Amino acid sequence: MIPQRGISQDHWPLGSDATIGILGGGQLGRMLALAAARLGFKCHVFCPDHHSPAFDVVRSVTEADYLDMAALDRFAADVDVITYEFENVPAETATFLSARKPVLPDPKVLATTQDRLTEKEFVASLGIGKAKFAAVDSPDGLAAALKSVGQPAVLKTRRFGYDGKGQLMIRNGGDPAAMFNDLGGQPLILEAFVPFEREISVVAARGRDGRIESFDVIENEHQDHILKTSRVPANVTHAVAAEARRIAEKIAEAFGYVGVLAVEMFVVLDGGGHSVLVNEIAPRVHNSGHWTIDGASVSQFEQHIRAVAGLPLGKPIGRGRIEMVNLLGDDVDDVGRWLEVPGAAVHLYGKTAVRAGRKMGHVTQVFPD
Ligand code: AMP
Repeated sequence: MIPQRGISQDHWPLGSDATIGILGGGQLGRMLALAAARLGFKCHVFCPDHHSPAFDVVRSVTEADYLDMAALDRFAADVDVITYEFENVPAETATFLSARKPVLPDPKVLATTQDRLTEKEFVASLGIGKAKFAAVDSPDGLAAALKSVGQPAVLKTRRFGYDGKGQLMIRNGGDPAAMFNDLGGQPLILEAFVPFEREISVVAARGRDGRIESFDVIENEHQDHILKTSRVPANVTHAVAAEARRIAEKIAEAFGYVGVLAVEMFVVLDGGGHSVLVNEIAPRVHNSGHWTIDGASVSQFEQHIRAVAGLPLGKPIGRGRIEMVNLLGDDVDDVGRWLEVPGAAVHLYGKTAVRAGRKMGHVTQVFPD
């Protein structure tokens, strides 16, 4: 059945000739579009960057600024539903688009997760564990926050931080004014340093019908604050794995979320047992879930497309023990070697400019149980 165009919510699921609009043209948009194509959907990607990896694999592209309202209007007219592959979509853009077509997940999720302070307050309001934190709006505020949070601590920009950018570790005090200015004199958050045993994440999908499916818990290793390796299953107890999934599902439920989200967490040795603290929520598909393309019966990208299209979610069945390695910067020079490794699934994002730490591709190895 061909869906009626417009903002009516009554015509789900989308028909297979429908067009899904994606804001953002990075590798996440590219992999979303490839999953959408497998389900018969067309995609239209909106991104200001001429060299967007997602542009290469879709039917329509708009290369324009996120605040170009005329371009957004044309984009909205061409698609049946709009989603996004990054969390820093400007609020004006999301509001403008949601007056024209359904935007999923709901833009209110962006408002909460774009700011580390509102995100932490939201997590705290759900009674979920997190590091002690305090808002910092001035050098004096930093001195006060250091007293309440203690040291060591991590000072972070409230907005636009990723892969460790906009962060400062504080171990032995220092000059609050200099530290405040080092991070641009903008609103900050101070978090207690978490002496974690390991870092894990949960990628969960919630459908329009409220059904939730989370993937197996993932263990993540970072290199210079950038994800390098993800392993499944995570080397954690059943109790920790269950708690991690419960946390991700509680967050998805509390948002009334539609789509895929990822929750990054710390596992901390706590007396004789472990506790799980939330570090960050990503309201989108996530690098630590790339293994699901080759390692599960339904990928995180397909789950997201199913959710925003109003289709039933799949039940993810894992294919074995997994190791996913990111090809960061020059690592991509090893691609010839990876292509020779039996069973290795090589993914390249079509980026031509190699920069240190840039995500150029990834390799997944599945070791059947
Ligand atoms: P983020 O940008 O907040 O995800 O931080 C990037 C990485 O920095 C995390 O994956 C951790 O390895 C580390 N990190 C961030 N916040 C903390 C913290 N409060 N305690 C310890 N390590 C942290």
